[in-house]
Amino acid sequence: MEQDMARLVAASLDSNADDEHDPEGQTIAWERSQLAALTDGVRTHLAELDDALARVAEGTYGTCAVCGEPIAEGRLEARPTARTCVQHAGAPVDRNS
Ligand SMILES: [Zn+2]
Repeated sequence: MEQDMARLVAASLDSNADDEHDPEGQTIAWERSQLAALTDGVRTHLAELDDALARVAEGTYGTCAVCGEPIAEGRLEARPTARTCVQHAGAPVDRNS
């Protein structure tokens, strides 16, 4: 495991060194930051999906977390991970409740 880490670190050091001498280095750095932003977005989305699945299991899926009214079907179609009805969109929701 530690050996794997060392290999990974060495590999990333190598590619950093390449960036400095490679005329494509800037593009690679830019692509890396784009990818990082993308994976962040995917991670957030996965967390939202996990959350939605937990609510399906609890039987609270499709119910507004603020007022307890059913969330409009159109809203769930557009945003399947919505926790609130249209009126309460953007309202702070206690995720642990
Ligand atoms: Zn509501």
